[in-house]
Amino acid sequence: MAAMAALILSLLFAMLPAQASRITEVRAEDGRLVVHFDDKVAGASVFGLDGPDRLAVDIDGISASDLAESDGAFGRLRGGQFDADTARIVLDLDRPLRVSGLRFAADGLSLTVDLASASAAEFARELGRGRRSALPPMLARAAPRPAGYSVSMKLPRPRSSGNLPKIYGRDDPRLPLVVIDPGHGGHDPGAISPFGGEREKDVTLAIAKAVRDELVASGQARVALTRDTDSFIVLQNRYAIARKLDADLFISIHADSAENEAANGATVYTLSEVGSDREAQRLAARENKVDIINGVNLGAAGDDLSSILIDLTQRETMNVSSDFAQLLAREAKENMRVKANAHRFASFVVLKAPDTPSVLFETGYLTNAEDVAFLVSSAGQRKVAEGISSAVQVHFAKKLAMR
Ligand code: ZN
Repeated sequence: MAAMAALILSLLFAMLPAQASRITEVRAEDGRLVVHFDDKVAGASVFGLDGPDRLAVDIDGISASDLAESDGAFGRLRGGQFDADTARIVLDLDRPLRVSGLRFAADGLSLTVDLASASAAEFARELGRGRRSALPPMLARAAPRPAGYSVSMKLPRPRSSGNLPKIYGRDDPRLPLVVIDPGHGGHDPGAISPFGGEREKDVTLAIAKAVRDELVASGQARVALTRDTDSFIVLQNRYAIARKLDADLFISIHADSAENEAANGATVYTLSEVGSDREAQRLAARENKVDIINGVNLGAAGDDLSSILIDLTQRETMNVSSDFAQLLAREAKENMRVKANAHRFASFVVLKAPDTPSVLFETGYLTNAEDVAFLVSSAGQRKVAEGISSAVQVHFAKKLAMR
């Protein structure tokens, strides 16, 4: 029996990873970023992120990497543990750069990222290239972490979209499925109203529930919510839920904020590589930033997020999204204040599902006294829901007629 126990113990120890390496120093100096470790690591990769412009360096086979923020040669440097096995260093760029080289030292104990000045267009290409990887020399490389071994983590990981939300409405698969996404949630309150402190995350959830009830009552659609509690979901998982449910339409609900308290009215956004105006660009940059905590991007697990390049196969989806956006702007006008030229474009990450027509509905301004009073009232929420519901019904009726 004792022999058996000893055998099991030794097997357990064999499964534990070797003492993981730590980052000892990060230096940003003329034309390069150099990262030093105290032991072997498994590999590294680098990729660009926009809104704001950043470069991220992921190092695999590392644990306990708390980095103090510092100003380097290219901008602000920060970083931390991305998951149990990966450290992420984020460089907030003060000017566009491109990566001209990525290599480990012969002893595997440092990584050099060569950086060159670039034009904005070259940085956009850098984003489009996605992730670039490098491995330490064979003999100076840590073994990758065994699969299935779990350790506790310092940061929340993107919530698995494996648990799909409940579908409301008549149980008829022929009915179109609409996924409503209440913006923000959990630690991310979104915009906060200067009048009464209403938080965007609560307003969006209340409106989303009103939309659900309105659509279910119409009998013309099935509905799912990406969240129905005060929880945080990374942007990528929000549209992943719509894709997994094979949704016919995705509507992300938000409420805007502006320095100018007079700014008011709703806007409907659809995806594009370039924003239709500077305000739209700024808004998308702000909304895309919600996945970032202390400089660590919780969402960018794939290269997909770092790129704003849109695939050709996505064009048809984008046309359908635009048609719906125009419909929604028209129908909402009957029920609430809507901006002139209410359909606008910007590169919102949450709208990136390649195969689900998607819009982001900014329902009004929490910084405008009249808008906020309307959006937090149940009468106002019902009005918003009626506008969305009638746009959804017209949209699918048109699609049916075209078949
Ligand atoms: Zn928002």
